[in-house]
Amino acid sequence: MGKHALLSASSSHRWLNCPPSARLCEKYEDTGSEYAQEGTDAHSLCEYKLKQALGMDAADPTENLSFYNEEMEQCALDYAAYVLELVEDAKKTCKDPVVLIEQRLDFSRFVKDGFGTGDCVIIADGTLDIVDYKHGKGVEVSAIENPQMMLYALGALELFDGIYDIDTVRMTIFQPRRENVSVCVMAKDDLLQWAHNDLTYKAKLAYEGSGEFACGDWCRFCKAKAVCRKRAEYNLELAKYDFEMPDILEDAEIAAILDKVDELTAWAADVKEYALRQALSGTSILAIKWWRDVPTAGTSARRQWPTPFLRQDMIPMPKRCWVLRRCRSSWVKRSLTSCWAV
Ligand code: SF4
Repeated sequence: MGKHALLSASSSHRWLNCPPSARLCEKYEDTGSEYAQEGTDAHSLCEYKLKQALGMDAADPTENLSFYNEEMEQCALDYAAYVLELVEDAKKTCKDPVVLIEQRLDFSRFVKDGFGTGDCVIIADGTLDIVDYKHGKGVEVSAIENPQMMLYALGALELFDGIYDIDTVRMTIFQPRRENVSVCVMAKDDLLQWAHNDLTYKAKLAYEGSGEFACGDWCRFCKAKAVCRKRAEYNLELAKYDFEMPDILEDAEIAAILDKVDELTAWAADVKEYALRQALSGTSILAIKWWRDVPTAGTSARRQWPTPFLRQDMIPMPKRCWVLRRCRSSWVKRSLTSCWAV
């Protein structure tokens, strides 16, 4: 699916918790990653294996996959076998269950322009099954109150609720590399109650770009995560320990730091990665930092000014002149004048 929805199911954990992030993310490009590509490859293989297992026509994508390996092959086979079991189960109570693979699911009745793609949907009398494959192994994903799954379920109900008599929704995350199969069973009425209350209200805020910014584990998947002020303020709260605390931290304070330290480390890494990306694209935040720290007499210029940031092409002429005017170290001045040809 080429087009991404502003309020997609896959990003719903973020925009439901931090509604203004939806419009903010629009300003930043999706830079992609090897993990994302690996996940896309795994989904293609899963789709193929499942179609094969169900006796449907499908083209083998293997030779076009960048990350194909034995583990991916086994994961896809396990996924297909798992879905096949669910289909066999459904046949016990319904003679003609419908199996949809990589199905576009439209939930725009509740979320403006909202849609997503369900890996597998099984519709039978009484029960609707939604199965989502996760190839990542970094974080174990739970199906319990998982908004992505609930949005897929709403989209599937839009298609089939009038045709099949559905009263229960079963949502499954299949994450083989974590040996995780997480299942959440929900009454259709509870799902619709959530949709009409919490979901529609927050989706409206998100679509309008209003509501409150809020930090949490969802920030990891936000395109603005490196430059978001709210996230910076949230993480920099830790800096208060630099000047407010006595010489030795108490256990409770260490516990409070430990609570946030993973998020703090992740944020610092995001900011660093962003700065490096900016440098590679010609906007050197690090160079700006060095301009601010122009060495003065008596300081070690060799230590403060790493060579890459002295490159003429990285610093525009007005900045070069400004640096030279401010510079009080004759050694630095001589070096810069010759290397910048000013
Ligand atoms: S980084 Fe976090 S707080 Fe900031 S916009 Fe993104 S989700 Fe919201």
